[in-house]
Amino acid sequence: MLQPEILAEFQTLLSVDRVYADAETLALYASDETPRYCLPDAVLFPASHDDVLAIVRLANRHRLALVARGAGSGNVGGALPVTGSLVVSFECMKRIVEFDPANRLIVVEPGVVTDDIDAIANSVGLMYAPDPGSGAYCRIGGNLAMNAAGPRCVKYGATRDHVLGLRAVTGAGQEIRVGGRTTKYATAYDLTRLLVGSEGTLALITEVTLKLIPAPERVATLRVCFSSNAAACAAVSRIMGNPEKNPAAQSVVPSALEFMDRRAIEAISEYGGEYGAAEGLPAGTQAILMVEADGAAADVPRQIAALEAALAGDGLLEIQSGFTAAEIANLWVARKSLSHAVKKIAPLKINEDVVVPVARLANLVNAIDALGKHHRVPIVSFGHAGNGNLHVNLMVHADDAEEMACARACRDALIEAVLGLGGSLSGEHGIGSEKRAYIERELDASTLALMQAVKALFDPQGLLNPGKKLPDA
Ligand SMILES: Cc1cc2nc3c(=O)[nH]c(=O)nc-3n(C[C@H](O)[C@H](O)[C@H](O)COP(=O)(O)OP(=O)(O)OC[C@H]3O[C@@H](n4cnc5c(N)ncnc54)[C@H](O)[C@@H]3O)c2cc1C
Repeated sequence: MLQPEILAEFQTLLSVDRVYADAETLALYASDETPRYCLPDAVLFPASHDDVLAIVRLANRHRLALVARGAGSGNVGGALPVTGSLVVSFECMKRIVEFDPANRLIVVEPGVVTDDIDAIANSVGLMYAPDPGSGAYCRIGGNLAMNAAGPRCVKYGATRDHVLGLRAVTGAGQEIRVGGRTTKYATAYDLTRLLVGSEGTLALITEVTLKLIPAPERVATLRVCFSSNAAACAAVSRIMGNPEKNPAAQSVVPSALEFMDRRAIEAISEYGGEYGAAEGLPAGTQAILMVEADGAAADVPRQIAALEAALAGDGLLEIQSGFTAAEIANLWVARKSLSHAVKKIAPLKINEDVVVPVARLANLVNAIDALGKHHRVPIVSFGHAGNGNLHVNLMVHADDAEEMACARACRDALIEAVLGLGGSLSGEHGIGSEKRAYIERELDASTLALMQAVKALFDPQGLLNPGKKLPDA
């Protein structure tokens, strides 16, 4: 428990209504989307960069751990408090500092909700491209910390590719401004890219300058049904492959290329409910691809024709297309309901977010199938096929020891398979506390030592998000 004198110091610093240590508030901030729980000692609600600076400096004086929090929608325990820590919630820092359409940029505080940024950009024909599925409630600071991504990222890149610069407070209590306001910048070490994806372990981000791009004039969507996973993966290869090496490949980069396996389709059919169902699928559908094209109105039909030609092949059962907003929304309903539908298969979802080079997606999907059978674990796989990034959900009952042991063995074998394919532990969810045990399998000792040294430079007392991302030094 936090000593009352220290609590009073924080209250003097921020004001009484920005520092909470009552049981109800602590419980509200004790978890994120992972099935874990740890009460913090207090929850702080800074309203400005200066508040954050003051918090970090006082925390340094008393050696108190700080856990940054956006919306708590992360699924790797990134925003999960640790014993004796203070949560720094950015939900009150949600000002649009500057909207500069002429330079296609927007400067925002970290508590702004992601979809709101896109909506502001859309109002003048621009867009903020990264589109995580949680965009309606997650916050941009959390997105930066995790390098969040979404379906559009196959064409436009992840959060990191859209951050021009940022302002932050390091764990040592230094104010820094990194990057700039321009799309070209060659002056400094690229600390912006270092801080994006650092999961709140190096610095607390207090302001972000984001790049905006012209919104496409038109979007068109295809829902494509296949008779097997293999047929769907072969189609992904034809879409994303090198046209010079693969005569069947083409050169249009889709603005989304999403995959759902048979169990995902079953989950939506059985549990979609209010979120929507996978209705009207042709008999024998075992896998679905959602494919999207966007761009100038006159060019989208050409792109769609090229994508349809690439999709044609063994195992293709049906292509449904949508061109109006209503048709497109209707085709996406099933995919967008998945995160919620899978939760109803079993109470606990062990969610892996693995990524492999896209040409090896078929190997990954085969490995998942074999592992599920071998370890007798129901696995639902779906995700961003165009990036080789799949959400692999092991569905289990936490109170069944045998089932849990099988799931752990299965998860272990999955990680081995992914690394063996030249892949990585996480495509977009990050490492947090949940995947930390595996990071040494992917990164060699000297790389990890360098990361530890960087952490020590930014945060010498190890106060920012301890027990996350990196193994203990
Ligand atoms: C239904 C659902 C769908 C999802 N879909 C996607 C998806 O498509 N793509 C995707 O990438 N993720 C997805 N996620 C995961 C999650 O939404 C993202 O990781 C998101 O970026 C987290 O944002 P948040 O505001 O909730 O951050 P939190 O969960 O609160 O925090 C995440 C991390 O950011 C750190 N942090 C927060 N604010 C700051 C700050 N100002 N400075 C420094 N560190 C900070 C925290 O300490 C923590 O480590 C999904 C989650 C759910 C529940």
